[in-house]
Amino acid sequence: MKPIRIPIALQQAVMQCLRENLRLAGQYFNCDFPEPTLTYRQRGTSAGTAWLEKWEIRINPVLLLANQASFIEEVVPHELAHLLVFRQFGRVAPHGKEWRWMMSEVLKSDPRRTHEFDLATVRTHTYPYACGCRRHDLTIRRHNRIRRGEAQYRCRQCGNILHYDENA
Ligand SMILES: [Zn+2]
Ligand SMILES: [Zn+2]
Repeated sequence: MKPIRIPIALQQAVMQCLRENLRLAGQYFNCDFPEPTLTYRQRGTSAGTAWLEKWEIRINPVLLLANQASFIEEVVPHELAHLLVFRQFGRVAPHGKEWRWMMSEVLKSDPRRTHEFDLATVRTHTYPYACGCRRHDLTIRRHNRIRRGEAQYRCRQCGNILHYDENA
């Protein structure tokens, strides 16, 4: 997979949104939260992930590039809210009442659990696998490890081993 370059202006827009949301939270709780580490290392079909102990947000560069403004508006507060909830309440249900409250009351955002981005752009960078219950989009790294016989992956839901399936 070729490395994906995120234009500086887009990176700045992401950072600006993060800081603005952090400022809202700081105002609400009357404290200064440290700025989370922001990376563009998220692979696969997830828009982003929040790494609680690391205080880090990983953004999917492919989905960011394809969706830009809507991506920033939805994904940045969503993932930041996970970090803030962890800091304020500890480990609780990922999209439970604390998270919904953080989104709507503190960050003034729509507390939607999932994003509806077109995954076609991601899928050109991934390989379709099937288990028996659903489709899995694997990164080229995992795909190659399977091809070389270095790894097998199981579906966490049905427990079956994933196999390459172009029609999945
Ligand atoms: Zn989430
Ligand atoms: Zn399965």
